Amino acid sequence: AEVAAFLKRHRIKVWGTDVPHPIKSFEMLCKEHGFQPFVLRNLTKFGFAQPTPIQMQAVPVAIHRRDLIANAPTGSGKTLAFLLSILHQVHSEEKQGFRAVVVSPTRELATQIYNHLQNLTTGRRVRVCLMTKASAAQQAQDPALRQKFDILVTTPLRLVHAIQSGEADLAHVRTLVLDEADNLMEAGFLEQVDEILAACTAPGLQISLFSATMPSNVEQMAKTIMKDPVRIIVGTQNT
Ligand code: ADP
Ligand code: MG
Repeated sequence: AEVAAFLKRHRIKVWGTDVPHPIKSFEMLCKEHGFQPFVLRNLTKFGFAQPTPIQMQAVPVAIHRRDLIANAPTGSGKTLAFLLSILHQVHSEEKQGFRAVVVSPTRELATQIYNHLQNLTTGRRVRVCLMTKASAAQQAQDPALRQKFDILVTTPLRLVHAIQSGEADLAHVRTLVLDEADNLMEAGFLEQVDEILAACTAPGLQISLFSATMPSNVEQMAKTIMKDPVRIIVGTQNT
């Protein structure tokens, strides 16, 4: 009942089986969810004092490795919502090349996500690769160098090209985030998304979709690629 009141107060609606409880503060990430202190330090350093509603509910769901469809308005902090669980994941794993991939429809958005991640990993050896058309030459050319990355931030067309050319190996990826997912699940990008999913061959792949809105036909389609997903909607939603 207390959780229900908390969710209502923050206009969080959630559906699914055994949904993990929301976090009330970023401190809870360290106290109850085993996050390393550097995460809290960097959140404070970059001015993130309190989680936004989407972060409160999406972060615990993602760290329990549940598939997730999350909708919250533009500007509500969806980026940090999916980056926090990725940081938790890559720190507790053996280094094996790309283990988390964030796909974003445009180079500009991918670059913003990359910059956000650079801030959050300040002082840490978490290796993030930004792979877009413009960044291709600088970062991802040398296969030996690529092996050393943990997290990949990219766009659909660039990633499919990298898969086809053997430039990106997604065999160890355990987390796939589609940002602006309503856009990525549209006709223009569906083929690329299919190809990306097919390249993520490791067992137990976790898939998260984040966007401001989600048309119901897209939601239906998304559910066909997911296992027992949790559905989160923050604020009012017209689909
Ligand atoms: P969305 O993807 O939902 O449109 P963003 O992730 O781009 O939103 O975040 C919008 C802005 O809010 C960014 O400037 C981001 O740094 C800021 N922000 C995100 N989370 C928090 C927080 N917990 N506290 C303060 N500012 C935040
Ligand atoms: Mg966003």
